[in-house]
Amino acid sequence: MSDSALSARYGPGETNYFAGSPLNRVGFLRDDHEFLALALTHASARFVPLFKFDPAIGAGALLFLTYADVEPLVGNPYAVSEAAAAAAFDSDAETPTLVFLGLDEAAPGIAHRGYAGQPYFAVDITPTQPARAAAADAVHALVVARGAAFEVVRVNYVLSPAEAAIYAQARSYVDWNLRNPFCAGCGARTLSVNGGCKRVCPPSDRGVARPPCPSRGVVTNIAFPRSDPTIICAVVNRAGDRLLLGRNKRFPVQFYSCLAGFCEPAESVEEAVRREVWEESGVKLGRVVIHSTQPWPYPASLMIGAIAEAVEETIHLEHDPELGDAQWFPFADVADALHRAEHPESAVAPADGAFQLQVPPSKAIAHVLMRAVVLQKAHLPKL
Ligand SMILES: [Zn+2]
Repeated sequence: MSDSALSARYGPGETNYFAGSPLNRVGFLRDDHEFLALALTHASARFVPLFKFDPAIGAGALLFLTYADVEPLVGNPYAVSEAAAAAAFDSDAETPTLVFLGLDEAAPGIAHRGYAGQPYFAVDITPTQPARAAAADAVHALVVARGAAFEVVRVNYVLSPAEAAIYAQARSYVDWNLRNPFCAGCGARTLSVNGGCKRVCPPSDRGVARPPCPSRGVVTNIAFPRSDPTIICAVVNRAGDRLLLGRNKRFPVQFYSCLAGFCEPAESVEEAVRREVWEESGVKLGRVVIHSTQPWPYPASLMIGAIAEAVEETIHLEHDPELGDAQWFPFADVADALHRAEHPESAVAPADGAFQLQVPPSKAIAHVLMRAVVLQKAHLPKL
């Protein structure tokens, strides 16, 4: 895409870690229970088991399971249509947390209505439901027997970018389902539909009509997964030779990163960047441009990476006490720190214990933003 007009104008673009999934989500097929049942039970189907939201990893890669492996735990919730499932709804029934992720169109698998590929699902195997605990434990034992273990991905970024993206989708959707067992409109139990990508408040429970609910009225309020927009920004001084970095009070004393925070309702991304940077550092910003974005599945953030110019550079930490420190670092110091973060095996600490700037690892969007400013100036949007 480097020869495109947009790339010439704005740079080649960036696919951050946790983005770039090889799966086509084919979201418009999620209400087709015949498609979901075919995908679920097909021999090519691959399942991402999550235990307390962590994936099974063996030899640095995701361990996938088959339908035969998970059938005792999940059964086939797609054997009937969504309407039939809603009519038969029983709020006391324990249902599996199962999510259709999409099709890998590059691999052999199923074909349905003109769409073909290998189906992927996520399944929660945490033994929280008494009636399914034994089946969940059996899946866990299977994973261990195959030489894998459940690992926290964000600590070591061990997965390939493609598998990290599959895991990110799995984690966010499973987390959302587990957080939303009750209707926001009436407080009653909800039913998972659309392959685990939507939850509805059925009109009856065990054949008895439920009270009216706003989610079933004129104003539809069906529960869809949400993403929480979060800004993160590399701030450049007016001279164009220093970056503003902050140290969270929880960070080690030499560890600095880009400033970040949640977007608030009725606020543009640019305004959120200016507000967060001013609240945390006292620095006032002018132009803000969006560089790239990153899904951050802990549990549902969408990191919006920006680069901004300061118009007032005095640091003032007294507004919001979140940061322990903030400083303007020369580009050369940031470049050295980026290199150490990318090659930790060859980094040498100063013998005298002097301050040596540390920044996040290369798969973090903060690192990507710093690199874009300090090392890839040619690829910056024209500010
Ligand atoms: Zn309701």
